[in-house]
Formats: sequence, structure tokens, C-alpha cells
Amino acid sequence: MTGQANPFESLQSQIDDAAAYLDVGDDVIERLKHPERVLETNLTVELDDGTLERFKAFRSQFNGDRGPYKGGIRYHPDVNRDEVKALSGWMVYKCATADIPYGGGKGGIVIDPSDYSEAELERVTRAFATELRPLVGEDRDIPAPDVNTGQREMNWIKDTYETLENTTEPGVVTGKNLASGGSEGRVEATGRSTVIAAREAFDYLDMDLEGATVAVQGYGNAGWIAAKLIDEMGATVVAASDSSGGIYNPDGFDPVAAKEHKSETGSIVGYEESEEELTNEDVLTMDVDLLIPAALENAIDGDLASEVEADVISEAANGPLTPEADAHLAEEDVFVIPDILANAGGVTVSYFEWVQNRQRFYWTEEKVNAELEDLIVDAFDALVDTLEEHGIDNPRTAAYVVAIQRVADAYDESGSWP
Ligand code: GLU
Repeated sequence: MTGQANPFESLQSQIDDAAAYLDVGDDVIERLKHPERVLETNLTVELDDGTLERFKAFRSQFNGDRGPYKGGIRYHPDVNRDEVKALSGWMVYKCATADIPYGGGKGGIVIDPSDYSEAELERVTRAFATELRPLVGEDRDIPAPDVNTGQREMNWIKDTYETLENTTEPGVVTGKNLASGGSEGRVEATGRSTVIAAREAFDYLDMDLEGATVAVQGYGNAGWIAAKLIDEMGATVVAASDSSGGIYNPDGFDPVAAKEHKSETGSIVGYEESEEELTNEDVLTMDVDLLIPAALENAIDGDLASEVEADVISEAANGPLTPEADAHLAEEDVFVIPDILANAGGVTVSYFEWVQNRQRFYWTEEKVNAELEDLIVDAFDALVDTLEEHGIDNPRTAAYVVAIQRVADAYDESGSWP
């Protein structure tokens, strides 16, 4: 992380930028800049050696005007209240951008999961699920995976909730594995929307995706799947990085083999097709047609932004640009597909999972991917229409104009009470 921007302040400035184009009162905008409530809790969990450890955890419910709060749970040592608040707000505007009937929420535990055994992580997760029990539910608040959490944690949350409630309610959480009521296509969904959005942007800008060069920063679930899918679309992935460093091959490399190397060794560094080792910053500033930041917030700050050479950026991560970086890249005419659209595939297929859970009727992978494609293309078209209608220079601002209007309309319809 190079930037020190506070992500909650970044969110608020993104809302302010869009408010200038909206006919929504300042009083309503003020409401849309703050979470409705934030749970801060301390989990006391027994470790394998019998000692107790305290873990701080949060759940922010930002806005429920369009539907139940929705958003992931992150396990990371840097989790903090303002980060969770920002991430929960980004979920509100992401769900509105994708036009799915949810509000936004987010949770996190301050923990480095690599320091704990699986049994310890299960106890931590079940302790958090117990704290969340009164807040969540398929019509209330629906957690999902985020950084360092996945199907395993979601299955534990579902099981804890269902056991305590003496019910079956698989839609209380999404991102589960198939046997526990998960959806086909959910694991790939974030990377998939990142590349669908990139494809639409290339088309809009009259650029050729076939043979375009791509750099991917972050090689977790979102990053490596985006690399795999963009390679399948005919682009050439020349650089990638993870938290240990980066790899480079000017002729491109096989993203799947690079992932296998990471699974075996813990990092993509040392992958045999790489011709040069790079730093994370080298990857972010590489002269490529498309850059996919797929790690954490604030990857690119104002200083680093002046070195970015990509023509298009598709944000697989949440909040990878500081506001300074964002403003600079808009001035330079870099087309940035904002996180609230580019990575909206994850929550969109979470929505499909929830629909399937409620109907107890399950879709094929083809149907999931076709429905996802439609929603992301519609979201991109709405962004571009708004961009052109208002003469906005930053695609992020256009996405917020669309999203805030939708949330404000829902609020307007229901009125303010009590
Ligand atoms: N954590 C993902 C996100 O930031 C997915 C959230 C969800 O599926 O609810 O969009």
C-alpha cells in the first residue's frame, strides 16, 4: 500500500463529486455519506494451546433503502472501522450500479489468518457469526466472502446461524460451496465482471482487445481469474504481481500455469515463464493497454499515478486508487472502470445465489454467466450514457451519478420515518 488516504474520506469525496451533477438535496446526500450503524465487537476465542485471544471485529450496515444490507467479511490485520465503513458504502453504490435489490454492508476481523490453524479460524468465524446472529438474515443482512475469506468461512457462518436459529436458511450468506447451497459461477464472478467491463470499455474506446497487453496487480481470486479470462479473450497478460513481487514476460505467459506455481510455492515469483522479476509498483506503472489492480485499497496514490502508463484500468479491487490518483488519471484521459462496476460481478452472482436459495431451484453455469453478462453490460451502458449526457470526464463520477440517483429514488419513495 503506497497511499495513506482514509478510504472512508475517499468514499465521501466520490459521493460529493457525483452530487454536483444530481438534483438530490444536500440533506439526502448527507444521509448517503454515513453508515446507518456499525457493530464493533471483541471476540474471545480459545486457541489450540488453551490460551484465549481477543479479536476485534466490525459489521457496518451502510444503507438499506434498496434492500437488505449486502457485502463481504474480510480477514486482515489492517481491518479498521473506517475501512469497513468505506467498504460497506462502496457496496451500496455497487449494488445500485448493478441494479440488484440490495443495500450495502461490510464486515471484517482484525486477524492475519495465516497465523492460525483451521480449527482456530473456525472458532473465530463461529464466534463472529454468533455476534452477527441478531443482525443478519436473508431479508436483513447477507454476508459473503471478501479478502482472505471464501466458501469455507461462509459454510461455517451458515451452519452457525442455522443451528442457533433452528432453521434452514441458506440465503443468510452467499459465496458458499455448491454442496451448501452455493451457485455455479460465483467463484469466478468478480474476475468475470472485471474483464466483461474491460471488453466493453475497449469497444467504447475503439481499442482492440485482441493482442492488447495486460498487467494484473494481485493474484488472489479476483486477479488470477481476470488474468485467465482476459487471456481467453485474446489479450496478452505480460505482468502480474502478488504480495511477494511480480513477474514479467513481454510475449505473455500462461495465467493458469502461473496460478499453479503460486498454489505450489505460495507466490507467483519464480514462475518459470517469467523473464524478469518486478516489484508491485513496476507492475502498476507498466506500459500496457489494460491494468487490473486486484489487491487492496490505495494501491495507487497521487505520486504513483503520475507514472501509470496504462490506457484503461479495470478495478477488480475495492478502492485501489486514492482520490488524488483518480483525479490525475481522469485528467490524463486514462479510462478507469470503477470498482463499483468492474468488480460488481461478485455481488451480482451472490444475488443469483440468494435467488436460487430462496427458490430452492438451481441454475446452470451457462445461465448464471449469461445473466451476469447482461447486468454488467447494462451497467456499463448506463455509465457511458451518463458520462456523455453530463460531459463528465471521470467514469467513476458517472457511475456514482447513476447509483446515487437510484438510492435516492428508493429513499424518496419510502420517505423519512421515524
Ligand atoms: N466482497 C465482494 C465485494 O466486495 C462480494 C460481496 C458479496 O458478494 O456480497 O463486492
